[in-house]
Amino acid sequence: MAELFYDDDADLSIIQDRKVAVLGYGSQGHAHALSLRDSGVDVRVGLHEGSKSRAKAEEQGLKVTTPAEAVKEATVIMVLVPDPIQAKVYEESIAPHLKDGDALFFGHGLNIRFGFIKPPASVDVCMVAPKGPGHLVRRQYEEGRGVPCIAAVEQDATGKAFELALSYAKGIGGTRAGVIKTTFTEETETDLFGEQAVLCGGTSALVKAGFETLVEAGYQPEIAYFECLHELKLIVDLMYEGGLEKMRWSISETAEWGDYVSGPRIINEGTKAEMKKILGEIQDGTFANNWMAEYNAGLPKYNELKKADEDHLLETTGKKLRKLMSWVDEEA
Ligand code: NAD
Ligand code: MG
Ligand code: MG
Ligand code: MG
Ligand code: MG
Ligand code: MG
Repeated sequence: MAELFYDDDADLSIIQDRKVAVLGYGSQGHAHALSLRDSGVDVRVGLHEGSKSRAKAEEQGLKVTTPAEAVKEATVIMVLVPDPIQAKVYEESIAPHLKDGDALFFGHGLNIRFGFIKPPASVDVCMVAPKGPGHLVRRQYEEGRGVPCIAAVEQDATGKAFELALSYAKGIGGTRAGVIKTTFTEETETDLFGEQAVLCGGTSALVKAGFETLVEAGYQPEIAYFECLHELKLIVDLMYEGGLEKMRWSISETAEWGDYVSGPRIINEGTKAEMKKILGEIQDGTFANNWMAEYNAGLPKYNELKKADEDHLLETTGKKLRKLMSWVDEEA
């Protein structure tokens, strides 16, 4: 069972006694920088000249400097730039200014797990990753609550890396909710698997296949859209609130019976065998290496696949239908 840590297990003064650099000011970066600042931590945000986020961070009262300058000033460096560019930012702006005893922090383990970034043995390497998007992390903090976090230590040069990680997590409100101890390997592999097999990849493919099946059988795309995409939110909300049990309590007995007898025909032994293959390709680095190669080649396949889905009847139908539903906020 997982080990959990709360406010009483973490000492905020540890992170308050350090200088922290938050590199990047996107979804996670803004939440970390603002909440650490409000927790009495000495924070600076590292952004390249010309970054659109610079004005926003300054407006919110944060000190902004270049990534290299931020790393020079700080002894704790949180890397919250997009994963595919982290290795480049590390080579150019972090590595030349790292000092013995510094701590390198991440919000996701990909670059460490697959060796794209290889920090020297003299620095702590930690992860603090909230289990929620940045805007929720920030809002919960401001309301005196927190989003649960996971924390990990890959390299403990000082012998105190985990206490430091817990202190950082306290600074962003994580220990108010609870921090689960994990490893870079477990976080990275399960995160990639979850998003590919279930959350993003599995769900998108399931919705598309269901929609196409109905449309190819002659049903109206608008009706197919409601049945295969729109109503998914209701079902997922019920699962989120009370697991499969609450969802099945809420749906009709007919829907529940169909769930039991047809679900396993859709997601069957063949699907699970493919999931195991996908997990294997994540674990052995095939996925990460292919993704980096695609990214560095300028994203040709990515753009092709993106375009194909943008033009899909499911998407054009949805755009039209969502206009009829005033409560569906496209900007949310
Ligand atoms: P994001 O895309 O929202 O923001 C990235 C930020 O990096 C932007 O402010 C951008 O201006 C800045 N940036 C881009 N290039 C830069 C450069 N060369 N130098 C300095 N700054 C640069 O990213 P995100 O979604 O917050 O993800 C950051 C990290 O957090 C990733 O490791 C990600 O896996 C992890 N993470 C994200 C979430 C999430 O909810 N989005 C959740 C958990 C973990
Ligand atoms: Mg420094
Ligand atoms: Mg994830
Ligand atoms: Mg992910
Ligand atoms: Mg229905
Ligand atoms: Mg029921």
